[in-house]
Amino acid sequence: MKHNFGAGPGILPHEVLKQAAEAVINFNGTGLSLLEISHRSPEFEAVLDEALKLVRELFEVPEGYSILFLQGGASTQFALAPYNLLPEGGKAAYLETGVWANKALKEAKYFGETIVVATSKESNFSYIPKDFEIPKDAAYFHITSNNTIYGTQLHKFFKSPIPVVCDMSSDIFSRKVNVADFGLVYAGAQKNMGPAGVTLVIVKDDLLGKTNRKIPSMFNYQTQIEGGSMYNTPPVFAIYVSMLTLNWLKAKGGVEAIEKENDAKAKALYTEIDRNPLFKGVCVPEDRSHMNVCFVVQNPEHEKPFLKYCDEKGIVGLKGHRSVGGFRASIYNALPITSVHVLIDAMQEFQEKNK
Ligand SMILES: *Cc1c(COP(=O)(O)O)cnc(C)c1O
Repeated sequence: MKHNFGAGPGILPHEVLKQAAEAVINFNGTGLSLLEISHRSPEFEAVLDEALKLVRELFEVPEGYSILFLQGGASTQFALAPYNLLPEGGKAAYLETGVWANKALKEAKYFGETIVVATSKESNFSYIPKDFEIPKDAAYFHITSNNTIYGTQLHKFFKSPIPVVCDMSSDIFSRKVNVADFGLVYAGAQKNMGPAGVTLVIVKDDLLGKTNRKIPSMFNYQTQIEGGSMYNTPPVFAIYVSMLTLNWLKAKGGVEAIEKENDAKAKALYTEIDRNPLFKGVCVPEDRSHMNVCFVVQNPEHEKPFLKYCDEKGIVGLKGHRSVGGFRASIYNALPITSVHVLIDAMQEFQEKNK
């Protein structure tokens, strides 16, 4: 067994993979593959219904919010958020906390004026800016809850006078969130919810239909809501595997239970990074992510040998993003704490060998 610390597509529970593999051959005893049945069949409609129900239940999505499974990844939502929420001639506010936030901002510029309320670019996004004002006259305020590349996370959300739009791609379902604090939440599934190919969108219904824009059907949240995420053929396999993953999460005790586990994993790993003289963290401690743990070696000559040492122990996916370097241990929901302990042991053994 490998210990998969990859940043995305990320680790999925082993039992989910086994069930998914079975469904590709013979779905629920139908004698057909999940991949060759109609998305309008009662069998698949039951899958979609179950997936939607699990999202609403586990994420505690209140009345007045619609849940969608769309294609195109979080990157498409960078454009669809302003397309659907930013009125002609209006402006949108963005918090610049990394590459993904920046890409979201770039797309908004196609639709109107943008305001960057704060940025941590000058420090290579090693912290979350906190002292800023959210302009009351903007249509929405866009944030990224977890910055996958830099290893920072918003541990407290901002009080906002305008609707908050949040890219939760890399920490959705990892912790309890009050959905009512948001106007729009979106997340590519492939970090913490399922496989690549489906994007979860949770939108507050009364924010829609106010832009005066003509929005093509596929890009219009309203059309997708009316179509029940089936305006066209949905990504059946990705939705199915997400449903299995959410069921796995429910069986573990839901978001609250996994949050405790995630906190324990993060605490154990950061404690070792701070203790071990060979390594150091790259972010301001108070903003450290509980999903992507970024760290570097004190002596650059140790970097390659440490990666090799980890590889020999079955620890994979540890190489940091090129814009930060060093290591990034992604400790998503499905990564067991035993894997974190294997990594910690490797760090301690490596310290011993390099005394
Ligand atoms: C991975 C990631 C994205 C990009 O997701 P795609 O589904 O590949 O478009 C966007 N935002 C965050 C925070 C991510 O981690």
